Amino acid sequence: MFPARFDYHRATTVDDALRLLGEHPGAKLLAGGHSLIPMMKLRLAMPEVLIDVGRVSELKGIEREEGKIYVGALTTHAELAASEVLAAHCPILAEAASKIADPAVRNKGTIGGNVAHADPASDLPAVLVATGAVIHLKGRRQRQVKAADFFTGLLATDLGEDEILTRIEIPDLHGRSGHAGSAYLKYEHPASGYAICGAAAVVKKNADGTCAAASLALNGVSATPFDAARVCRELIGAPLDDAVIRQAVNDHLHVGDPLSDVYASGLYRAELAKVYGRRALRLARDRAR
Ligand SMILES: Cc1cc2nc3c(=O)[nH]c(=O)nc-3n(C[C@H](O)[C@H](O)[C@H](O)COP(=O)(O)OP(=O)(O)OC[C@H]3O[C@@H](n4cnc5c(N)ncnc54)[C@H](O)[C@@H]3O)c2cc1C
Repeated sequence: MFPARFDYHRATTVDDALRLLGEHPGAKLLAGGHSLIPMMKLRLAMPEVLIDVGRVSELKGIEREEGKIYVGALTTHAELAASEVLAAHCPILAEAASKIADPAVRNKGTIGGNVAHADPASDLPAVLVATGAVIHLKGRRQRQVKAADFFTGLLATDLGEDEILTRIEIPDLHGRSGHAGSAYLKYEHPASGYAICGAAAVVKKNADGTCAAASLALNGVSATPFDAARVCRELIGAPLDDAVIRQAVNDHLHVGDPLSDVYASGLYRAELAKVYGRRALRLARDRAR
C-alpha cells in the first residue's frame, strides 16, 4: 500500500514547526512515523503536508529538576527503557516502554507520538494517568494539561491542530515524600505487542504498612485510559493485604462499555481489567518502601 501524495517539510526548531503548522492548516507532525505512516498507507490518514520534527533537538532528552522529571516528546521508547533517571525516579515508565512491541518499534517510536496518537491499546497513556503526569503543549501560547484530562476519546486528545506536544512532566516517585512502589503489567496481543489490557499502579505505604496513596489506570479496555480511582479511594488507610486488594477491585473496578473486537470481547476485557488491576496493585505494593 502506498500513501496518498503529500508535501514534506523538515522543521529545525519547535518555533519553525509551529510556523509550518500555521502555514499549512491540516498538516501532520511526523515523529517516529510508526503510527502515522501505517495510517497513511491504509489511507486512514491523508494529510497533504507532513512536518518532520524528528531532528528537533530541543524535543529530546530526559531531565530531573526540583523533584520532577521532564521527558522530551521525541524521546524514544528504547531511551525511556534504558534511562537511569527513570530507573531511579519513575521506573514504571521505563518498565512500560520496555514492553512495547519489539526493538525496531522501540528504537523509532516516541513518547510524544505515542501520547498524541492516543491509541487505546498503547502502553504509555495509562502510565501517565497513574503517575499524575502533566502534558506540556506549545502553540500560540504554552499550556499544560493533566494526563487524566488529555485523552478525550478513541484516538482523540485535547491537542489543538496548531499545537506541538513538547514534553511530559512526571512526579518523582522516589522523592522526599517517600518511595512509592509502581508496576506496569499487560496482557498483550501476540503479534503486535499492543495491550489487550494493561494496568499501571502506583502505591505509597504508611510506616505501619497501610495504604497512604494509590492510583491505578488501565489501557486497552476503554477508549481512553480507565482511571480506577474508586478502587484506590477504597484502599486509602487500609492494610494492603491480598484480600483487601481483591475486595476493592471486585467491588469497584467496573469498566462501563468496554472495548470489544475480534481479539477480545468486552466481557473478557472487563474481566482482564480486574485480574491485571489486582496483580499490578499487588506488585506495586511489594515494591513500595
Ligand atoms: C508493529 C507495531 C507495534 C506496536 N506496538 C506497540 C505496543 O505494544 N505498545 C505501544 O504503546 N505502542 C505500540 N506501537 C506504537 C509505537 O510505539 C509508537 O508509539 C507510535 O507509533 C507513535 O509514535 P511515533 O513517534 O511513531 O509517532 P508518529 O507515527 O510519527 O505520529 C503519531 C501521531 O502523533 C502526532 N505527533 C507526533 N509527535 C507529536 C508531537 N511532538 N506533538 C504533537 N503531535 C505529535 C503525529 O502528527 C501523528 O498524528 C506499535 C507500532 C507498530 C508499528
